[in-house]
Amino acid sequence: MTLYIVATPIGNLDDITLRAINTLKNVDLIAAEDTRHSGLLLQHLGIKAKLFALHDHNEQEKSQILIDKLKAGLSIALISDAGTPLINDPGYHLVKACRDNQIDVVPIPGACAAITALSVAGLPSDKFIYEGFLPAKSKARQDSLAKLVHETRTMIFYESTHRLMDTLDDMQAIFGADKQIVLAKELTKTWETIINLCVSDLIAWLNEDLNRQKGEFVLIVEGHNKTENDVEPEVINTLKLLQQELPLKKAAAITAEIYGLKKNQLYQFGLTLTK
Ligand code: SAM
Repeated sequence: MTLYIVATPIGNLDDITLRAINTLKNVDLIAAEDTRHSGLLLQHLGIKAKLFALHDHNEQEKSQILIDKLKAGLSIALISDAGTPLINDPGYHLVKACRDNQIDVVPIPGACAAITALSVAGLPSDKFIYEGFLPAKSKARQDSLAKLVHETRTMIFYESTHRLMDTLDDMQAIFGADKQIVLAKELTKTWETIINLCVSDLIAWLNEDLNRQKGEFVLIVEGHNKTENDVEPEVINTLKLLQQELPLKKAAAITAEIYGLKKNQLYQFGLTLTK
């Protein structure tokens, strides 16, 4: 009774691993997001297997059926349409349920679009954050981006054809036109393109040829470069709150005391806020 979490290719079918092939050959059942799509991959690999549909919208209820099968002694592999299951794909509820029921969960690692893009981006890769897809609605997307303005780690986003330009417009408005972005398109596929530009130039480049806006995308965005005059968001909040009740000089002095900062720097910053 083991659940195998098996990564599959994100484009080029040769990127399947030997362990993935052997595991998919040997399990009793393969749980897949889209059984038709996965059927084609299995056909390509010459694997005849029983498929079981597990989507985002039925995962919680279907997980119980799979848990019962695992408890009955079956071995099961989980695959998604592309890349690593659970990374913006179904699987979380099933893996959690297995862990809660002391059922072994074994990873069979392989492709993941985020890590593949990061590995060629040329942006700092020692610390990074994965944000997946930004919200679809414009206000929610802008709010999410606003929270990342001071993020110093490299940021990884997924994006689809129909929202790419809106997302880049929002990034330009919120991060500034100079923000460096690496756009990784159609990784491992025929039209693979990896281009690094500042966001305003990237928007112009994508508008030069509308075909460039089509495909699957990872956006790797450089983290915020801290300068000596940078003020952290929580410091700004405190200063603003105190300023509502006190003169700026006093508010800056108290905020400086709380965070161990220079009061003159905060006073000067406060002046820009009141402007
Ligand atoms: N589980 C997958 C993984 O491990 O990367 C991600 C699945 S998510 C539903 C699909 C998104 O991943 C796409 O919209 C795109 O942003 C990104 N993606 C998947 N394959 C890609 C590829 N070949 N090139 C660029 N981005 C890709």
